[in-house]
Amino acid sequence: MIDPFALRLAAAQGGTHALIDLDALAGNIAYVRSLVPAGTELMAVVKGNAYGHGLVPCGRAALAAGAQRLAVARVEEALLLRAAGVAAPILVLGPATPALARAAAEAGIALAVGSRAGLRRLLDALGDAPSPLALHLKVDTGMRRFGVEPAEAVALARALAAEPRVRLEGVFTHFATADEPDEGFLREQARRFAAVVHDLAAAGITPPLVHMANSAAILRGVVEVPAPGATLAVRPGLILYGLNPCPDRALPAAVRPVLRLVTRLGRVFTVPAGDGISYGRTYVAPRPIRCATLPIGYADGLARALSNQGWAVVDGAVCPIRGSVCMDQTVIEVEAAPRAAEGDPALLLSDGRDGAMTADQVAHLTGTISYEVVSRLAARVPRVYLRAGRPVAVLDLFGLTEADA
Ligand SMILES: *Cc1c(COP(=O)(O)O)cnc(C)c1O
Repeated sequence: MIDPFALRLAAAQGGTHALIDLDALAGNIAYVRSLVPAGTELMAVVKGNAYGHGLVPCGRAALAAGAQRLAVARVEEALLLRAAGVAAPILVLGPATPALARAAAEAGIALAVGSRAGLRRLLDALGDAPSPLALHLKVDTGMRRFGVEPAEAVALARALAAEPRVRLEGVFTHFATADEPDEGFLREQARRFAAVVHDLAAAGITPPLVHMANSAAILRGVVEVPAPGATLAVRPGLILYGLNPCPDRALPAAVRPVLRLVTRLGRVFTVPAGDGISYGRTYVAPRPIRCATLPIGYADGLARALSNQGWAVVDGAVCPIRGSVCMDQTVIEVEAAPRAAEGDPALLLSDGRDGAMTADQVAHLTGTISYEVVSRLAARVPRVYLRAGRPVAVLDLFGLTEADA
């Protein structure tokens, strides 16, 4: 019988796939650790399928590299981690679906609460769950999205404390502008949050965990909250994947992008002068040009806005995308890679050192941010996980398959 891991790996590597370097992820965790005060807990943010990198493998790798906790956006993401055997504390950052409150309590998953009405809905859905539901009080200090107004935080915390079916595990806020060079509003939000934590303490309420900093705030050193008796935590997301949220700051070389996107040349052929390429014939060959089709398109997460803009690297050479990116296929010109042949690897996304596009370059070309570039990588793109450069697991549409240890 064929070893299922070998089969999945061969299938993944035979076409479009993402290489996820778990050692790079561990190195990035170590870098975050070096930036924050000793004793700070790292809550690795793995929402959005770990920013496209794969929820379960990246969650496990972050914990193995020293993160104490994980954070996600949806209760379902937390339940998937539990189903995969992840026992570490998990917080759902966003407003939770009340229908899943009981499942969260039973699985020991903490939820965020940002209003009296929200608390009421969670309690109604909890029923007589055997274990109390852990809650983190979310304070809206200026993001204007989700959370309690600072002036109402103490009242909400008191309502929560009066209810035996829930317990207060933490208090947190989220920054709106931490990535911007002007740190004025970032520091204003930190001040507002510190005042709320102070008010809570004055009311006799000390949440065990206090946290506010995302990747950008960690890079800017806006991390600490005066909170005697509480443990400080940070919530790094983007930087764990080796990407930079702050355009005005360079990351040290120790921080490495975790993801590379690779595909393989399909048909290699010559387009005669005057022929248009792909839907709409938006690129017309000015002379006969060698081209190759790639089995990747916007259904894989390759932005259609890269049509006639992006490039791949084949045999070390930059090969521009010609014509429209289709749903499942894309055409590149391979004149710069005269030895290019069917089956050769083509690199679409990397750390830039090999000439391939970086997530920041794709973001710039397509009018978005690197967060979206990696997060939109579709589930049908198999992820191949590397340790010490060797494949150790494959995540594809059929699930996660690991190599025998
Ligand atoms: C996504 C998110 C984070 C992580 O943000 P990064 O900019 O990726 O570090 C932290 N906290 C909350 C509430 C989030 O939604």
